[in-house]
Amino acid sequence: MRTEDLFREDATLLACDATIVAQGEGGVLLDRTVSYPLGGGQAGDTGWLSAGEQRWRITDTRKSKEHPEAIVHLIEGELPPVGATVRVEVDAARREAHRRFHTATHLLCALLPYPVDGCSITETYARLDFHTDEPFDRDAIQTGLTRLVAEAHPVRHRWISEEELDANPGLVRSMSVQPPRGLGRVRVLEVEGEDLQPCGGTHVGNTSEIGAIVITKIEKKSAKTRRVVLGFAQPSEA
Ligand SMILES: [Zn+2]
Repeated sequence: MRTEDLFREDATLLACDATIVAQGEGGVLLDRTVSYPLGGGQAGDTGWLSAGEQRWRITDTRKSKEHPEAIVHLIEGELPPVGATVRVEVDAARREAHRRFHTATHLLCALLPYPVDGCSITETYARLDFHTDEPFDRDAIQTGLTRLVAEAHPVRHRWISEEELDANPGLVRSMSVQPPRGLGRVRVLEVEGEDLQPCGGTHVGNTSEIGAIVITKIEKKSAKTRRVVLGFAQPSEA
């Protein structure tokens, strides 16, 4: 059982038609979807399924535990029946926030040359933990972020072979999230001229789309971990 993951090729796609192929794990499995499942530090999408007059709330999206290549849409209340054709729609504002924050974390990686040992991307904040005991200069990092957004770097993904990844171990920035193996190919995300690393998440197409973003906190999580937390600028700060 496998769910075609349309969001991997096009993160701007907010809806598609799909068929319910199974019920289980608190929701339904679809043959295809635009809804991103929790993973790689990024929260899952929420949204709606609909068929005619009927509507079901997707409260979260997860990778299936039983079927490694399938995606579970967690549903509130009664589940739609197997075989039904449904419209899948993701919450556009939440997706947009994830795309902007997620791309901003790549900019932090471009500015801070340390391994990443933790990551969380949500609708309201993003945080990235770096494995280092170096002090971080908040003003310098903020200036760097603002500059990279203003420079409008194109952001794009491509697929490389596992052999190519093995030949370039420097590509893997994250200690906590290793790229999925065994599929023969790995998705890499490039912020042109600034950052290149394996990543399966949803991103914007150009750093200018990240908009006004601010460092809300820098903290020393442990002797060897520095945490950077990002938020969207309030209108008065933008
Ligand atoms: Zn990413």
